[in-house]
Amino acid sequence: MDDITQQIEELKLEIEKLREEIKNIPPHKHCVNCGISIPPDKDFCSKKCEEEWNRMVKKKKNITYFWLLLMGILLLILLVTSGGL
Ligand SMILES: [Zn+2]
Repeated sequence: MDDITQQIEELKLEIEKLREEIKNIPPHKHCVNCGISIPPDKDFCSKKCEEEWNRMVKKKKNITYFWLLLMGILLLILLVTSGGL
């Protein structure tokens, strides 16, 4: 029985140590583009990452517009072909 209580005590100490370690991690964020740790007042780790991210977002927007246009054309084709011409 004594063995178990000692083990529990050791575990408690371990947990306490882990808690202290977690507390000692300074507040930080992760770069939106590459995910590395950065100061909390920034969104990107470097200018290069910011540019890369902006390029990616632009590309995504273009793809969204492309799909919307495609859908519009398809809808138009459907409307025309089902109009009994
Ligand atoms: Zn980055």
